[in-house]
Amino acid sequence: MTIDPKTFSPFDPEYVEPERPHGAVNESGEWEWEMLEPYKRIPRVLATLWRDPYTVYYENRRGDIGVKTTRTTPCPFCQQSHEHGIGDGHREPHCATSRAKPSATLSDGTTVYQKDGYIVRTRRIAMPKATSPKR
Ligand SMILES: [Zn+2]
Repeated sequence: MTIDPKTFSPFDPEYVEPERPHGAVNESGEWEWEMLEPYKRIPRVLATLWRDPYTVYYENRRGDIGVKTTRTTPCPFCQQSHEHGIGDGHREPHCATSRAKPSATLSDGTTVYQKDGYIVRTRRIAMPKATSPKR
């Protein structure tokens, strides 16, 4: 895998997930779940976790590439943010197993299952940082 940090973009087509049927879109353009293409006639609905854009950089003199990822929106199963490497897509859950719930009901009543994993997606635009009171 050759990656040039100068030209790297997390939005190159190879790193981006195609849009799927999904739940309601909030004011940030995000949805909580999406439906995987029907597999053996059983459509699966997976949780969607969003993260801000991330970067890559040279980690050492041998040219090994490091990835500076960002943390996702809170996971519906364990309420924690998760960190995933380069590329979006279907991922095994990174939940601390002792804390994760086997299923979660999302705000529109849709149920998703932890064993199914989740989809990681990268926002086109970083969420603004919480505004600090000082100017
Ligand atoms: Zn989790």
